[in-house]
Amino acid sequence: MKKKFKAESQRLLDLMINSIYTHKEIFLREIISNASDAIDKMCYLALTDPSIGMSRKDFEIILTLDKENRTLTVSDNGIGMNEEDLEKNLGTIAFSGSKKFSEEIEKADKEKADTAASLADQVDIIGQFGVGFYSAFMVADKVEVVSRKYGEDKAYRWISEGAGGYTIEEAERDSQGTDVIMHIREDGEEKDEFSQYMREYPIYKLVKKYSDYIRFPIKMLMPQPKIKEGSDPENPEFEEVFEYEVFNSMVPLWQRKRAEVTREEYEEFYKQTFQDELPPLETMTVSVEGMVSYDALMFIPEQVPYKYYSDDFSGGLQLYSSGVLIMDKCKELLPEYFNFVKGVVDSPDLSLNISREMLQHDRQVKLISKNLEKKIRGKLEELRDKDREKYEKFYKSFGRQLKLCALDDFGKYKEELQDFLMFYSSTENKLVTLAEYVDRMKEDQEYIYYAAGDSLDAVDKMPQTEILKERGIEILYFTDNTDEFIPDMFRKYREKSFMSVIDGDFDLGDGKNDEKMTETFKDTFDFVKEALGDKVDVVKATTKLRTHPVCLSSGDGITFEMEKYFTAVNPDLGMKAKRILELNVDHAAFLALDRARLDDPERAKKMCEVLFNQALLIAGLPINDPSGYTDIVCSFF
Ligand code: ADP
Repeated sequence: MKKKFKAESQRLLDLMINSIYTHKEIFLREIISNASDAIDKMCYLALTDPSIGMSRKDFEIILTLDKENRTLTVSDNGIGMNEEDLEKNLGTIAFSGSKKFSEEIEKADKEKADTAASLADQVDIIGQFGVGFYSAFMVADKVEVVSRKYGEDKAYRWISEGAGGYTIEEAERDSQGTDVIMHIREDGEEKDEFSQYMREYPIYKLVKKYSDYIRFPIKMLMPQPKIKEGSDPENPEFEEVFEYEVFNSMVPLWQRKRAEVTREEYEEFYKQTFQDELPPLETMTVSVEGMVSYDALMFIPEQVPYKYYSDDFSGGLQLYSSGVLIMDKCKELLPEYFNFVKGVVDSPDLSLNISREMLQHDRQVKLISKNLEKKIRGKLEELRDKDREKYEKFYKSFGRQLKLCALDDFGKYKEELQDFLMFYSSTENKLVTLAEYVDRMKEDQEYIYYAAGDSLDAVDKMPQTEILKERGIEILYFTDNTDEFIPDMFRKYREKSFMSVIDGDFDLGDGKNDEKMTETFKDTFDFVKEALGDKVDVVKATTKLRTHPVCLSSGDGITFEMEKYFTAVNPDLGMKAKRILELNVDHAAFLALDRARLDDPERAKKMCEVLFNQALLIAGLPINDPSGYTDIVCSFF
């Protein structure tokens, strides 16, 4: 019975069939990579269960050209698929990047109403992602998959001509494994477009180009010139004999010397293995011989991986033991805060039978992970100190992760991470580290000053920053919703405490004292407090302001940015910062208020409302009654 593809799959398939993508040749890489994955699984089983009776050298991928029937077949003796697997894996779009891929296609579709342009975009997306099995339809008009799963007797044949669905029937296969039989299309207008895949040499070249590092032999029958038996040795006659030739060098990239691997090879490996359309920002290699020997190849991505900042994300490195994959994402090899690093670790000293539970306590794993951490740390320091532009790129993607982890567990990793953090500086107009800030501090400066708000612009315009700016004191702008937890968690950096420009009381040594001033104008402040009632906790004079009449502070306890953060996370919590209204007694507005308090108390009350609401607006907090506020303001016209 013919079955239909799932809608999403059909869509992808149509794209492949009608593909105008120029690099159709990547289909072979995708099919070989699937074969290699299937062998990885079988090889692991065989090595952990001797009763299977296979060793690593028994595994191979065989390519077969059948020129008469115009087919190219990729066969493996991997884990195989049963009827259910065929249905599930090949009937639905299943490749690892599929979700993101279809989202990208949707996006391209929506953005471009023009279908031609949209198709071109979609095709571009094909190039960026490894799109897996369906890419076979770029070169084949019919694909058959004959597979037998390890441990089962029956084999099945999956057949599809792309459009119109697929069928699955029983078939024969001697042992476990899979044959992907691709019926290569006839050439269209372009000469040799598809026929090239019917010749040995182009296939050899493709394997060399894309699949050289595959760790299992990729073999094909190749014509070898042989001297014809009985021919004259002086004047020999040749005949063509076909013999299996292994195409790939099989040395995994991480086992090759760094100097012998090109940047392109690393990039290609990274993109294919970790499904990224961009090359990595940095590549790191480690090769250790000693108590525990291992090779590692690690990458720092440039962009945030899909769903990175969500619970669905799981990091970790691929773990191999002598070239056999034992775990796809071994998170024990990396500290949580560096979980954006992708890569591979291969050690002959690790037991194949190591379980997830054992990993956590394994001394060898701990040793490796410690060294890898050192390597990553060194690389990040190097970028930070020698290539700031690149570090900023890195920071844009993963700075948030470092910050979150620096705060985690009550600042448990503060020491490890604090020097990687950066904040925007009011004097440098760029991101700076805490060390740079402290190095630049004025001799008599006691604190690390910071101001928190919704955006750089909003913070920059805060009235409270005015005085410090006037004196040339550097302020760090905290605009991430977690930034303000840093002073709380860190307490100090290099013996210097943090001081909020908004909430702190800072004495700049100019002899001004807000307590004294509050006392002097006690009647006015009492009047304001009474007019505003519960809306404010305290009303007082301030030394922080120059040209502005009011500001709002929160004292100790939670701050406004924390209030906004908690409200966004869970409004029902009712977390509220204190509202301390600070007035500039030197400002004309204050003098006007003071006068009105005696001449026209009703008008003075309205002035209090206006001042309070302005303070809320500047702090980026919602005002309770916007239209009431507008009415009051207009009543002054
Ligand atoms: P991906 O390889 O990214 O998961 P594919 O579309 O290439 O996506 O393949 C879908 C699934 O089909 C694979 O995840 C795998 O389970 C299965 N598969 C494909 N080729 C083979 C094969 N040669 N042997 C066993 N399983 C295979």
